[in-house]
Amino acid sequence: MAVPKRKMSRSNTRSRRAQWKATPVALTTCPQCNAPKQSHLACPACGAYKDRHYSAAERTEHQA
Ligand SMILES: [Zn+2]
Repeated sequence: MAVPKRKMSRSNTRSRRAQWKATPVALTTCPQCNAPKQSHLACPACGAYKDRHYSAAERTEHQA
């Protein structure tokens, strides 16, 4: 297996890590209630996903 020949400088390490940024969460609208929801997840407002209802996904009074 290939091994780095030289130690990478702090400057090189830090300039590489400077490009590593968090990306904002992509939101879509729920087809049932038009509330903003994360894609591939059940809607937090009405619990709908793929013509089914998941009550566990719905937001309760204990959450913000
Ligand atoms: Zn919904």
